[in-house]
Amino acid sequence: MLPLAHSLSMMAAIAAMRGRAADAADLSSVAARLASGERDAAHTDTGTVREALARIRDLGAESALDEALAEVPQDLRRLATSGHLDVPAVAELHRLTGATSLGELSDRLASQGLAGAVEPTLMERARAAIAQASATRPRIPLGRAWSLLDPVLSVIRDASPEIERIVATGSFRRFAAVTGDLDVLAVSADPVRTSARLMGLPFISSVLHAGRDKVVVRFDRAELTIHIVTPDVFVPRLVSLTGSAAHVWQVRQRAASLGLTLTRDALLDHDGRARAIASEDDLYAALDLAPVAPELREAEGEVEAAARRELPRLLCHEQIRGDLHMHTDWSDGRDSLETMLLAAEALGYEYVAITDHSQTSAIARGLDVDRLERQIEAVAAAREKHPTMAILQGSEVDILPDGSLDFPDRVLERLDLVLASLHDMAGHSGAQLTDRYIQAMRNPFVHIVTHPTNRLVPNRDGYTLDEPRLFQGAVQTGTILEIDGAPGHLDMDGAMARRAIAAGALVSVDGDCHRADLLGRHMLFAVGTARRGWVEARHVVNALPLEGLRARLTAKRQAS
Ligand SMILES: [Zn+2]
Ligand SMILES: [Zn+2]
Repeated sequence: MLPLAHSLSMMAAIAAMRGRAADAADLSSVAARLASGERDAAHTDTGTVREALARIRDLGAESALDEALAEVPQDLRRLATSGHLDVPAVAELHRLTGATSLGELSDRLASQGLAGAVEPTLMERARAAIAQASATRPRIPLGRAWSLLDPVLSVIRDASPEIERIVATGSFRRFAAVTGDLDVLAVSADPVRTSARLMGLPFISSVLHAGRDKVVVRFDRAELTIHIVTPDVFVPRLVSLTGSAAHVWQVRQRAASLGLTLTRDALLDHDGRARAIASEDDLYAALDLAPVAPELREAEGEVEAAARRELPRLLCHEQIRGDLHMHTDWSDGRDSLETMLLAAEALGYEYVAITDHSQTSAIARGLDVDRLERQIEAVAAAREKHPTMAILQGSEVDILPDGSLDFPDRVLERLDLVLASLHDMAGHSGAQLTDRYIQAMRNPFVHIVTHPTNRLVPNRDGYTLDEPRLFQGAVQTGTILEIDGAPGHLDMDGAMARRAIAAGALVSVDGDCHRADLLGRHMLFAVGTARRGWVEARHVVNALPLEGLRARLTAKRQAS
């Protein structure tokens, strides 16, 4: 093919991936005419073709194509640059499946409807490309995903009154620590109108794909896919978009075992008729399953447990009575003690603990004994101003390299609540770090071990601890293990929390918040993470009323 014809046909493929069917048709018809030797084929009145030709002339073909490809949904671009597929192949996959993301493409390629439509070699290359693109795709931490999605959901709701419901889906809805892409699902009786309206919203910096049931937009250096469906499709699509892919696969297998077919958009009877499904609970019930909360949908035994009616009674946000881990501007927090207390009061907490850092945490402006003395006075004064909320005087005390604590016992003794933390691994192995924890847990004044693996999402993996020994130490000494809701921690994560409670440990579910305006959000993350760990209220010390909590805290001191 002539170079220009080739470039235009690539431009056509790119336009098709962006959902611009008319542009794609114009570009490919001119490309075809050029290829067949028609000399003045490029003299055309079509704006799209003229614009494409101008870009090719000004930038050169390669740069013009790169520029056009930069405006395609990022997953399609990753596939096209994976080395396994080229632009026309990705465009072909998009044409066959409608997919604009890796998740959609895998799901569509696995579905029966496409069997035969995709050539075996293309299928094979697609699988390799998906695997490679998934491995290299950047991860968005839960905290950032929340900051991006929260305002956008309200903007969309306000701008589109015909939207009956809108939900953020994907791993975000499951409270996973990181997510690959941002997806929301909107229900509208008139998707075409909604899609047109959404493309004009001011927060959008560019529209990467515009389809009948989906708009992919870029905003704030992120990409968002807004799926738009009619009410009858909402529930099956919600389950499918929430994932995880492995969970959805198991649920589909379950449907098949009952003679039903669960597709992306419907639950079909054996005669192919779609059942009316009003809610996710209804959908699970139709499969003779107890409702499965989004946080549990990880294919970790939840489908079997739902079939046996043995799912946990998951911790609810309303069951949290207070937050036992937060920082003020006495150490590295942003806000004053008073501001944090007002925020806690506004959240309706029965109690809070003020837990600034101890002296060795120089970076975190840790309190030495003198400043701690002054904070104790300040907290005592604050109690007068906040008579309805109990304020526990605490400290987040570093566990030093030798396993001792950063304050002597005579200081710890004066605190209502002592959190013990490893912030500095000091070059130790997992076994040595476990030893340090166990030594700290043996101190009768230590109540809670915070963020045990000390991971930093998404950049630093946690310590490799000797978990059985850690959990046994916690149970034997009556020390509580924390599920820390700071989005950089989310530590213990769900899987570890599940193992901890199975070993008999109690947990606290805390925000570890450093600013008042995020106090509630961090607790949501902590509760979401606890739910991922199948945690029930009975495992959680800060689901206890104040008296019960105090009894727990004093029990350890008395036992020693
Ligand atoms: Zn910490
Ligand atoms: Zn902290």
